[in-house]
Amino acid sequence: MLSVLDMFRVGVGPSSSHTVGPMRIAQRYGQRLARRTWPDGARVVVTLMGSLAFTGHGHGTLRAVALGLLGHAPERFDAAAAEADLAGISQSHRLACGLGFDPASDIRLDYDSRDLLHPNAMRLAVMAGDDVLAQEDWFSTGGGFIASRRQLQRAAPADRVDTGKQVPHNFGSAAELLAIAEATGLSLAEIVLANEDAMRSRGATLAGLDRVIAVMLACIDRGLTTTGILPGGLKVERRAPALWQQLQDGRSANEPERLFDWLNVYAMAVNEENAAGGQVVTAPTNGAAGILPAVMKHYCDTDDHRRRFLLTAGAVGLLYKQRASISGAEMGCQGEVGVACSMAAAGLAAVWNASPQQVANAAEIGMEHNLGLTCDPVGGLVQIPCIERNAIGAVKAANAARLALHRSGHGRVSLDQVIETMRQTGIDMSHKYKETSQGGLAVNVVEC
Ligand code: SF4
Repeated sequence: MLSVLDMFRVGVGPSSSHTVGPMRIAQRYGQRLARRTWPDGARVVVTLMGSLAFTGHGHGTLRAVALGLLGHAPERFDAAAAEADLAGISQSHRLACGLGFDPASDIRLDYDSRDLLHPNAMRLAVMAGDDVLAQEDWFSTGGGFIASRRQLQRAAPADRVDTGKQVPHNFGSAAELLAIAEATGLSLAEIVLANEDAMRSRGATLAGLDRVIAVMLACIDRGLTTTGILPGGLKVERRAPALWQQLQDGRSANEPERLFDWLNVYAMAVNEENAAGGQVVTAPTNGAAGILPAVMKHYCDTDDHRRRFLLTAGAVGLLYKQRASISGAEMGCQGEVGVACSMAAAGLAAVWNASPQQVANAAEIGMEHNLGLTCDPVGGLVQIPCIERNAIGAVKAANAARLALHRSGHGRVSLDQVIETMRQTGIDMSHKYKETSQGGLAVNVVEC
Protein backbone atom coordinates (compact mmCIF):
# COMPACT_ATOMS: atom_id res chain seq x y z
CA MET A 1 0.00 0.00 0.00
CA LEU A 2 1.02 3.56 -0.59
CA SER A 3 0.77 5.95 2.34
CA VAL A 4 -1.91 8.62 2.56
CA LEU A 5 0.96 11.05 3.11
CA ASP A 6 2.05 10.23 -0.46
CA MET A 7 -1.26 11.77 -1.62
CA PHE A 8 -0.53 15.05 0.18
CA ARG A 9 2.90 16.33 -0.83
CA VAL A 10 4.09 19.78 0.08
CA GLY A 11 5.37 21.38 -3.10
CA VAL A 12 5.26 24.41 -5.34
CA GLY A 13 2.85 25.55 -8.01
CA PRO A 14 1.60 25.57 -10.55
CA SER A 15 1.46 21.85 -11.40
CA SER A 16 2.26 18.63 -9.58
CA SER A 17 2.76 16.62 -12.76
CA HIS A 18 4.48 19.40 -14.73
CA THR A 19 6.37 21.23 -11.97
CA VAL A 20 6.77 19.04 -8.86
CA GLY A 21 7.36 15.73 -10.70
CA PRO A 22 9.89 17.08 -13.22
CA MET A 23 11.74 18.96 -10.48
CA ARG A 24 12.01 15.74 -8.44
CA ILE A 25 13.19 13.79 -11.49
CA ALA A 26 15.82 16.39 -12.41
CA GLN A 27 17.00 16.74 -8.80
CA ARG A 28 17.56 12.99 -8.45
CA TYR A 29 19.26 12.81 -11.84
CA GLY A 30 21.56 15.67 -10.85
CA GLN A 31 22.51 13.81 -7.67
CA ARG A 32 23.43 10.71 -9.68
CA LEU A 33 25.45 12.73 -12.17
CA ALA A 34 27.47 14.28 -9.36
CA ARG A 35 28.75 10.85 -8.29
CA ARG A 36 30.64 10.32 -11.57
CA THR A 37 33.36 12.15 -13.40
CA TRP A 38 32.68 13.38 -16.89
CA PRO A 39 34.94 14.40 -19.79
CA ASP A 40 35.49 18.07 -20.53
CA GLY A 41 32.82 19.51 -22.78
CA ALA A 42 30.07 17.07 -21.72
CA ARG A 43 26.68 18.64 -21.07
CA VAL A 44 23.24 17.72 -19.77
CA VAL A 45 20.35 17.76 -22.23
CA VAL A 46 16.74 17.25 -21.11
CA THR A 47 13.97 16.51 -23.58
CA LEU A 48 10.34 17.03 -22.56
CA MET A 49 7.79 14.95 -24.46
CA GLY A 50 4.03 14.66 -24.75
CA SER A 51 1.99 16.84 -22.42
CA LEU A 52 5.18 18.12 -20.77
CA ALA A 53 6.16 19.64 -24.13
CA PHE A 54 2.73 21.02 -25.00
CA THR A 55 2.07 22.78 -21.71
CA GLY A 56 5.59 22.89 -20.29
CA HIS A 57 6.04 26.64 -20.74
CA GLY A 58 2.74 27.56 -19.06
CA HIS A 59 3.16 25.00 -16.29
CA GLY A 60 6.71 26.12 -15.44
CA THR A 61 8.26 22.76 -16.38
CA LEU A 62 11.42 24.19 -17.94
CA ARG A 63 12.14 26.27 -14.87
CA ALA A 64 11.40 23.28 -12.61
CA VAL A 65 13.84 21.06 -14.54
CA ALA A 66 16.60 23.65 -14.29
CA LEU A 67 15.97 24.09 -10.58
CA GLY A 68 15.98 20.33 -10.02
CA LEU A 69 19.35 19.97 -11.73
CA LEU A 70 20.59 22.81 -9.53
CA GLY A 71 19.62 20.76 -6.47
CA HIS A 72 16.26 22.30 -5.55
CA ALA A 73 13.49 20.02 -4.29
CA PRO A 74 9.78 20.94 -4.14
CA GLU A 75 9.29 19.93 -0.50
CA ARG A 76 11.94 22.36 0.77
CA PHE A 77 11.63 25.06 -1.85
CA ASP A 78 13.37 28.37 -1.20
CA ALA A 79 12.12 30.95 -3.72
CA ALA A 80 14.92 33.47 -3.13
CA ALA A 81 17.67 30.86 -3.46
CA ALA A 82 15.95 29.50 -6.58
CA GLU A 83 15.99 32.89 -8.29
CA ALA A 84 19.66 33.40 -7.40
CA ASP A 85 20.62 29.96 -8.73
CA LEU A 86 18.69 30.48 -11.97
CA ALA A 87 20.43 33.79 -12.51
CA GLY A 88 23.77 32.09 -11.86
CA ILE A 89 23.28 29.19 -14.27
CA SER A 90 22.10 31.52 -17.02
CA GLN A 91 25.54 33.17 -16.78
CA SER A 92 27.84 30.22 -16.02
CA HIS A 93 26.13 27.52 -18.09
CA ARG A 94 27.76 25.00 -15.77
CA LEU A 95 26.40 22.75 -13.01
CA ALA A 96 28.25 22.17 -9.74
CA CYS A 97 29.32 18.70 -10.98
CA GLY A 98 31.16 20.37 -13.86
CA LEU A 99 28.78 19.37 -16.64
CA GLY A 100 27.65 22.08 -19.03
CA PHE A 101 24.00 23.13 -18.92
CA ASP A 102 22.29 26.13 -20.45
CA PRO A 103 18.57 26.19 -19.54
CA ALA A 104 17.81 28.22 -22.65
CA SER A 105 19.12 25.64 -25.11
CA ASP A 106 19.57 22.36 -23.23
CA ILE A 107 15.90 21.83 -22.33
CA ARG A 108 14.20 20.74 -25.53
CA LEU A 109 10.53 20.28 -26.35
CA ASP A 110 9.60 17.27 -28.46
CA TYR A 111 6.00 17.69 -29.65
CA ASP A 112 6.04 14.68 -31.96
CA SER A 113 7.16 11.74 -29.83
CA ARG A 114 4.47 10.09 -27.77
CA ASP A 115 5.58 7.55 -25.22
CA LEU A 116 3.10 4.74 -24.86
CA LEU A 117 3.95 4.20 -21.20
CA HIS A 118 2.77 7.66 -20.06
CA PRO A 119 2.15 11.03 -21.75
CA ASN A 120 4.41 12.93 -19.30
CA ALA A 121 7.78 11.64 -20.46
CA MET A 122 11.26 13.12 -19.90
CA ARG A 123 14.58 12.00 -21.40
CA LEU A 124 17.66 13.10 -19.47
CA ALA A 125 21.03 12.63 -21.12
CA VAL A 126 24.70 13.54 -20.88
CA MET A 127 26.04 14.42 -24.32
CA ALA A 128 29.54 15.01 -25.65
CA GLY A 129 28.90 16.49 -29.06
CA ASP A 130 26.51 14.03 -30.70
CA ASP A 131 27.62 11.13 -28.49
CA VAL A 132 25.27 10.02 -25.75
CA LEU A 133 27.33 9.18 -22.66
CA ALA A 134 24.38 8.38 -20.41
CA GLN A 135 20.63 8.48 -20.78
CA GLU A 136 17.56 7.81 -18.65
CA ASP A 137 13.82 8.06 -19.33
CA TRP A 138 11.53 9.16 -16.51
CA PHE A 139 7.84 9.85 -16.19
CA SER A 140 5.84 12.27 -14.07
CA THR A 141 2.73 10.26 -13.35
CA GLY A 142 0.55 12.82 -11.57
CA GLY A 143 0.32 14.31 -8.10
CA GLY A 144 4.12 14.61 -7.88
CA PHE A 145 4.63 10.83 -8.28
CA ILE A 146 7.51 9.84 -10.56
CA ALA A 147 8.61 6.55 -12.15
CA SER A 148 11.50 5.34 -14.28
CA ARG A 149 10.88 3.51 -17.56
CA ARG A 150 11.84 0.25 -15.85
CA GLN A 151 9.47 0.89 -12.97
CA LEU A 152 6.55 1.59 -15.30
CA GLN A 153 7.37 -1.40 -17.52
CA ARG A 154 7.58 -3.69 -14.51
CA ALA A 155 4.38 -2.40 -12.96
CA ALA A 156 1.90 -5.18 -13.52
CA PRO A 157 -1.65 -4.04 -14.18
CA ALA A 158 -2.79 -4.19 -10.58
CA ASP A 159 -5.08 -2.44 -8.18
CA ARG A 160 -2.42 -1.81 -5.56
CA VAL A 161 1.10 -0.48 -5.49
CA ASP A 162 3.67 -2.80 -3.94
CA THR A 163 5.90 -0.71 -1.69
CA GLY A 164 7.30 -3.73 0.13
CA LYS A 165 5.47 -2.69 3.33
CA GLN A 166 3.12 -5.12 5.02
CA VAL A 167 0.04 -3.38 6.37
CA PRO A 168 -2.74 -4.86 8.53
CA HIS A 169 -5.54 -3.79 6.16
CA ASN A 170 -4.43 -4.31 2.57
CA PHE A 171 -7.19 -3.04 0.27
CA GLY A 172 -7.22 -2.59 -3.48
CA SER A 173 -10.82 -1.61 -4.02
CA ALA A 174 -13.66 0.21 -2.31
CA ALA A 175 -15.43 -3.11 -1.89
CA GLU A 176 -12.44 -4.53 0.01
CA LEU A 177 -12.15 -1.38 2.08
CA LEU A 178 -15.83 -1.54 3.05
CA ALA A 179 -15.53 -5.26 3.84
CA ILE A 180 -12.65 -4.47 6.24
CA ALA A 181 -14.77 -1.77 7.85
CA GLU A 182 -17.67 -4.20 8.22
CA ALA A 183 -15.49 -6.96 9.69
CA THR A 184 -13.54 -4.76 12.12
CA GLY A 185 -16.05 -2.06 12.99
CA LEU A 186 -13.38 0.52 12.17
CA SER A 187 -14.02 3.74 10.28
CA LEU A 188 -12.16 4.33 7.01
CA ALA A 189 -9.90 6.83 8.78
CA GLU A 190 -9.07 4.27 11.50
CA ILE A 191 -8.29 1.61 8.89
CA VAL A 192 -5.90 3.92 7.10
CA LEU A 193 -4.28 5.07 10.33
CA ALA A 194 -3.62 1.44 11.32
CA ASN A 195 -1.91 0.95 7.96
CA GLU A 196 0.16 4.08 8.48
CA ASP A 197 1.30 2.64 11.85
CA ALA A 198 3.07 -0.09 9.88
CA MET A 199 5.08 2.56 8.01
CA ARG A 200 6.15 4.89 10.84
CA SER A 201 5.26 5.74 14.43
CA ARG A 202 1.79 7.08 15.19
CA GLY A 203 3.33 10.35 16.36
CA ALA A 204 5.22 10.77 13.08
CA THR A 205 2.06 10.15 11.06
CA LEU A 206 0.06 12.68 13.07
CA ALA A 207 2.90 15.18 12.78
CA GLY A 208 2.92 14.62 9.02
CA LEU A 209 -0.82 15.18 8.80
CA ASP A 210 -0.57 18.30 10.94
CA ARG A 211 2.16 19.71 8.70
CA VAL A 212 -0.08 19.13 5.67
CA ILE A 213 -2.95 20.87 7.45
CA ALA A 214 -0.74 23.80 8.44
CA VAL A 215 0.57 24.28 4.89
CA MET A 216 -2.97 24.10 3.47
CA LEU A 217 -4.28 26.71 5.92
CA ALA A 218 -1.26 28.98 5.45
CA CYS A 219 -1.78 28.81 1.70
CA ILE A 220 -5.40 29.93 2.13
CA ASP A 221 -4.28 32.82 4.37
CA ARG A 222 -1.71 34.03 1.83
CA GLY A 223 -4.19 33.73 -1.03
CA LEU A 224 -6.83 35.73 0.84
CA THR A 225 -4.54 38.71 1.28
CA THR A 226 -2.32 38.75 -1.80
CA THR A 227 -3.61 40.97 -4.58
CA GLY A 228 -2.36 41.47 -8.12
CA ILE A 229 -2.17 39.91 -11.56
CA LEU A 230 -1.15 36.28 -11.91
CA PRO A 231 2.00 35.56 -13.93
CA GLY A 232 1.97 34.06 -17.41
CA GLY A 233 0.53 36.76 -19.64
CA LEU A 234 -3.21 36.02 -19.43
CA LYS A 235 -3.64 39.03 -17.14
CA VAL A 236 -5.84 37.07 -14.76
CA GLU A 237 -6.47 39.10 -11.62
CA ARG A 238 -6.52 37.44 -8.22
CA ARG A 239 -10.15 37.52 -7.05
CA ALA A 240 -10.00 35.87 -3.64
CA PRO A 241 -8.88 38.98 -1.68
CA ALA A 242 -11.81 41.13 -2.90
CA LEU A 243 -14.37 38.43 -2.15
CA TRP A 244 -12.73 37.83 1.22
CA GLN A 245 -13.05 41.53 2.04
CA GLN A 246 -16.74 41.48 1.09
CA LEU A 247 -17.29 38.53 3.39
CA GLN A 248 -15.45 40.31 6.22
CA ASP A 249 -17.57 43.44 5.70
CA GLY A 250 -20.79 41.41 5.65
CA ARG A 251 -21.44 42.70 2.13
CA SER A 252 -21.71 39.25 0.58
CA ALA A 253 -24.96 37.52 -0.28
CA ASN A 254 -27.41 36.35 2.36
CA GLU A 255 -27.45 32.83 3.73
CA PRO A 256 -27.46 30.19 2.28
CA GLU A 257 -25.68 31.73 -0.70
CA ARG A 258 -22.90 32.87 1.61
CA LEU A 259 -21.93 29.19 1.98
CA PHE A 260 -20.95 29.20 -1.68
CA ASP A 261 -18.91 32.35 -1.13
CA TRP A 262 -16.93 30.83 1.74
CA LEU A 263 -16.08 27.67 -0.19
CA ASN A 264 -15.36 29.70 -3.33
CA VAL A 265 -13.05 32.15 -1.64
CA TYR A 266 -10.97 29.50 0.12
CA ALA A 267 -10.61 27.36 -3.00
CA MET A 268 -9.71 30.34 -5.19
CA ALA A 269 -7.20 31.58 -2.61
CA VAL A 270 -5.31 28.29 -2.85
CA ASN A 271 -5.44 28.04 -6.61
CA GLU A 272 -4.40 31.64 -7.12
CA GLU A 273 -1.40 30.93 -4.91
CA ASN A 274 -0.74 27.79 -6.93
CA ALA A 275 -0.94 29.72 -10.21
CA ALA A 276 1.57 32.20 -8.81
CA GLY A 277 4.06 29.40 -8.04
CA GLY A 278 3.44 29.47 -4.29
CA GLN A 279 3.67 26.64 -1.76
CA VAL A 280 0.71 24.27 -1.93
CA VAL A 281 -0.13 20.69 -1.04
CA THR A 282 -1.02 18.20 -3.78
CA ALA A 283 -4.57 17.17 -3.00
CA PRO A 284 -4.25 14.97 -4.98
CA THR A 285 -2.63 17.34 -7.53
CA ASN A 286 -1.65 20.99 -7.65
CA GLY A 287 -4.25 21.89 -10.28
CA ALA A 288 -6.92 20.56 -7.92
CA ALA A 289 -5.20 21.74 -4.74
CA GLY A 290 -7.97 24.10 -3.58
CA ILE A 291 -10.89 21.74 -3.05
CA LEU A 292 -9.79 19.80 0.03
CA PRO A 293 -8.39 22.82 1.91
CA ALA A 294 -11.56 24.83 1.19
CA VAL A 295 -13.89 22.13 2.50
CA MET A 296 -11.62 21.40 5.46
CA LYS A 297 -11.26 25.06 6.42
CA HIS A 298 -15.00 25.69 6.30
CA TYR A 299 -16.27 22.54 7.98
CA CYS A 300 -13.50 21.24 10.30
CA ASP A 301 -12.78 23.20 13.44
CA THR A 302 -10.83 20.70 15.55
CA ASP A 303 -7.57 18.80 15.03
CA ASP A 304 -9.49 15.54 15.23
CA HIS A 305 -11.89 16.61 12.47
CA ARG A 306 -9.11 17.85 10.22
CA ARG A 307 -7.11 14.62 10.62
CA ARG A 308 -10.20 12.45 10.09
CA PHE A 309 -11.05 14.50 7.00
CA LEU A 310 -7.59 14.01 5.47
CA LEU A 311 -7.26 10.33 6.39
CA THR A 312 -10.66 9.50 4.86
CA ALA A 313 -10.03 11.63 1.78
CA GLY A 314 -6.60 10.02 1.48
CA ALA A 315 -8.10 6.52 1.58
CA VAL A 316 -10.31 7.44 -1.39
CA GLY A 317 -7.39 9.09 -3.18
CA LEU A 318 -5.36 5.88 -2.85
CA LEU A 319 -8.13 3.99 -4.64
CA TYR A 320 -7.99 6.37 -7.61
CA LYS A 321 -4.19 6.35 -7.67
CA GLN A 322 -3.99 2.56 -7.55
CA ARG A 323 -6.98 1.61 -9.73
CA ALA A 324 -6.86 4.41 -12.31
CA SER A 325 -4.78 7.60 -12.40
CA ILE A 326 -4.66 11.10 -10.93
CA SER A 327 -2.85 12.53 -13.95
CA GLY A 328 -4.65 15.16 -16.04
CA ALA A 329 -2.47 14.09 -18.98
CA GLU A 330 -3.96 10.59 -18.72
CA MET A 331 -7.49 11.21 -17.44
CA GLY A 332 -8.33 14.83 -18.22
CA CYS A 333 -9.59 17.06 -15.41
CA GLN A 334 -11.90 14.33 -14.08
CA GLY A 335 -8.64 12.75 -12.80
CA GLU A 336 -7.69 15.93 -10.94
CA VAL A 337 -10.67 18.10 -9.93
CA GLY A 338 -12.99 15.09 -10.16
CA VAL A 339 -10.82 13.02 -7.83
CA ALA A 340 -10.33 15.95 -5.42
CA CYS A 341 -14.12 16.45 -5.30
CA SER A 342 -14.62 12.76 -4.60
CA MET A 343 -11.97 12.77 -1.85
CA ALA A 344 -13.35 15.92 -0.22
CA ALA A 345 -16.91 14.58 -0.31
CA ALA A 346 -15.75 11.42 1.46
CA GLY A 347 -13.76 13.37 4.06
CA LEU A 348 -16.65 15.68 4.82
CA ALA A 349 -19.13 12.81 5.10
CA ALA A 350 -16.78 11.17 7.63
CA VAL A 351 -16.58 14.39 9.67
CA TRP A 352 -20.37 14.43 9.63
CA ASN A 353 -20.28 10.92 11.18
CA ALA A 354 -21.49 9.08 8.10
CA SER A 355 -21.18 5.30 8.02
CA PRO A 356 -18.38 3.79 5.88
CA GLN A 357 -20.96 2.97 3.18
CA GLN A 358 -22.23 6.55 3.20
CA VAL A 359 -18.65 7.82 2.95
CA ALA A 360 -18.11 5.61 -0.10
CA ASN A 361 -21.41 6.89 -1.53
CA ALA A 362 -20.26 10.47 -1.06
CA ALA A 363 -17.02 9.71 -2.90
CA GLU A 364 -18.98 8.03 -5.69
CA ILE A 365 -21.34 10.99 -6.11
CA GLY A 366 -18.40 13.39 -6.04
CA MET A 367 -16.89 11.66 -9.05
CA GLU A 368 -20.05 10.64 -10.91
CA HIS A 369 -20.86 14.25 -11.72
CA ASN A 370 -17.35 15.07 -12.86
CA LEU A 371 -17.08 12.19 -15.35
CA GLY A 372 -15.85 13.37 -18.74
CA LEU A 373 -14.41 16.62 -17.41
CA THR A 374 -11.69 17.69 -19.84
CA CYS A 375 -8.37 19.41 -19.23
CA ASP A 376 -8.03 22.41 -21.56
CA PRO A 377 -6.08 25.12 -19.73
CA VAL A 378 -5.96 28.40 -21.64
CA GLY A 379 -2.41 29.35 -22.61
CA GLY A 380 -1.14 26.17 -20.94
CA LEU A 381 -1.45 28.02 -17.62
CA VAL A 382 -3.10 26.58 -14.52
CA GLN A 383 -5.55 29.49 -14.29
CA ILE A 384 -8.53 29.26 -16.68
CA PRO A 385 -10.56 27.12 -16.05
CA CYS A 386 -8.60 25.69 -13.14
CA ILE A 387 -9.12 28.34 -10.44
CA GLU A 388 -12.91 28.58 -10.74
CA ARG A 389 -13.13 24.86 -11.31
CA ASN A 390 -11.76 24.27 -7.81
CA ALA A 391 -14.40 26.60 -6.36
CA ILE A 392 -17.11 24.67 -8.18
CA GLY A 393 -15.53 21.39 -7.06
CA ALA A 394 -15.60 22.42 -3.40
CA VAL A 395 -19.30 23.31 -3.55
CA LYS A 396 -20.02 20.10 -5.41
CA ALA A 397 -18.14 18.07 -2.78
CA ALA A 398 -20.27 19.51 0.03
CA ASN A 399 -23.43 18.69 -1.90
CA ALA A 400 -22.23 15.16 -2.63
CA ALA A 401 -21.68 14.61 1.10
CA ARG A 402 -25.18 15.94 1.87
CA LEU A 403 -26.76 13.67 -0.75
CA ALA A 404 -24.90 10.68 0.64
CA LEU A 405 -26.08 11.36 4.19
CA HIS A 406 -29.69 11.10 3.05
CA ARG A 407 -29.14 7.54 1.82
CA SER A 408 -28.28 4.65 4.14
CA GLY A 409 -27.61 1.69 1.84
CA HIS A 410 -25.47 1.48 -1.25
CA GLY A 411 -26.66 3.15 -4.42
CA ARG A 412 -26.98 1.76 -7.93
CA VAL A 413 -23.48 2.98 -8.77
CA SER A 414 -20.63 1.81 -6.58
CA LEU A 415 -17.40 3.71 -5.94
CA ASP A 416 -15.42 0.99 -7.73
CA GLN A 417 -17.70 1.27 -10.75
CA VAL A 418 -17.33 5.03 -10.99
CA ILE A 419 -13.52 4.79 -10.64
CA GLU A 420 -13.42 2.25 -13.45
CA THR A 421 -15.75 4.46 -15.53
CA MET A 422 -13.42 7.41 -15.01
CA ARG A 423 -10.47 5.28 -16.09
CA GLN A 424 -12.17 4.07 -19.26
CA THR A 425 -13.44 7.57 -20.08
CA GLY A 426 -9.93 8.92 -19.63
CA ILE A 427 -8.46 6.32 -21.96
CA ASP A 428 -11.09 7.11 -24.62
CA MET A 429 -10.68 10.90 -24.29
CA SER A 430 -8.87 12.61 -27.17
CA HIS A 431 -5.36 13.75 -26.26
CA LYS A 432 -6.55 17.28 -27.17
CA TYR A 433 -8.38 17.33 -23.85
CA LYS A 434 -5.65 15.84 -21.70
CA GLU A 435 -3.37 18.68 -20.61
CA THR A 436 -2.08 19.57 -24.06
CA SER A 437 -4.01 22.85 -24.55
CA GLN A 438 -4.85 21.60 -28.05
CA GLY A 439 -8.64 21.69 -27.64
CA GLY A 440 -11.59 23.08 -25.69
CA LEU A 441 -11.26 26.43 -23.96
CA ALA A 442 -7.57 26.53 -24.84
CA VAL A 443 -8.36 26.99 -28.55
CA ASN A 444 -11.61 28.95 -28.19
CA VAL A 445 -10.48 31.63 -25.77
CA VAL A 446 -8.26 34.20 -27.37
CA GLU A 447 -5.12 34.90 -25.35
CA CYS A 448 -4.35 38.57 -25.08
S1 SF4 B 1 -8.07 21.94 -16.36
FE1 SF4 B 1 -8.04 20.62 -14.54
S2 SF4 B 1 -6.54 18.98 -14.99
FE2 SF4 B 1 -6.19 20.65 -16.46
S3 SF4 B 1 -4.56 21.90 -15.56
FE3 SF4 B 1 -6.55 22.79 -14.91
S4 SF4 B 1 -7.04 21.81 -12.94
FE4 SF4 B 1 -5.40 20.58 -13.90
